[in-house]
Amino acid sequence: MIQLQNEALVKEITARILEQLGGRSVAADPGKCVKVGVSARHIHLCRKDMDTLFGPGSELTPLKELMGGQFAAKETLTIIGLKLRPIENVRVLGPLRKQTQVEISATDGIKLGVKAPVRLSGDLDGSAPIILVGPKGAVSLEQGCIVAQRHIHMSPEDAKRFGVHDGQVVSVQAPSERGGLLENVPVRVDPSFTLEMHIDTDEANALGIRQGDMLPIVCG
Ligand SMILES: [Zn+2]
Repeated sequence: MIQLQNEALVKEITARILEQLGGRSVAADPGKCVKVGVSARHIHLCRKDMDTLFGPGSELTPLKELMGGQFAAKETLTIIGLKLRPIENVRVLGPLRKQTQVEISATDGIKLGVKAPVRLSGDLDGSAPIILVGPKGAVSLEQGCIVAQRHIHMSPEDAKRFGVHDGQVVSVQAPSERGGLLENVPVRVDPSFTLEMHIDTDEANALGIRQGDMLPIVCG
C-alpha cells in the first residue's frame, strides 16, 4: 500500500517538474506542432548538367516520393571540392530544375574544403563552387553549393491555423535531451506544400532530433 502511494507521489512530482521545466514543449498542443524532415546531402540538376553527367536525353529514375511532387532518384553522383576530397553516392532529387544546386551540411563543407553559405533553396548568387562527377562526365560549377537554411513548409490553410504568413520567421522548440530553441526559421507557404520542417543532418544530430519528430512552433 505504501509502495503504491509512493509511486503515485513520484508520478505526480515528476509530472509537475516536467511541466515547469519543459513549459510549452512538454504540454505542447499537437495542433501547434510541425513534423520534422531531416534532409541528407543531395543534388538538384538542370537539363544541361543531367545530359553531361548521365548522357544526352537521360532521365531520372524515381525511387521515393517526396513532398510537393519531388522524388529521390536512383541516380547518385560524386561531389568534389577544392581540396580534391570526394563525397560519393550523393542522391539526386527530381524532377529537373532550372539550375543545378548542391545541398551539403556544414560538416560536409569541412571535409570537402567548400565554404558553402547558409541559404534558402534557389538563392545561389555567390554560393560556393563544386565539381560533380557522374557516369558519363563531370561538371564544374562556379557556384551552386549551399548549406540549406532550415525552413517550414505550409499550405495556406496551415498558415492560417498557425497565424503566420509566407516569409515570416518563427522559432521551433526541440525538447530532446540535447535540445534547444531553433531560431530564424522562415515559413514558406504554397498550396503544394504539406506541413513539414526541413533541417539538415548536422542540426538533427546536434539537437538529438529524429525524422518524424513533432516539434512545437513557440513564437510567430
Ligand atoms: Zn524544404
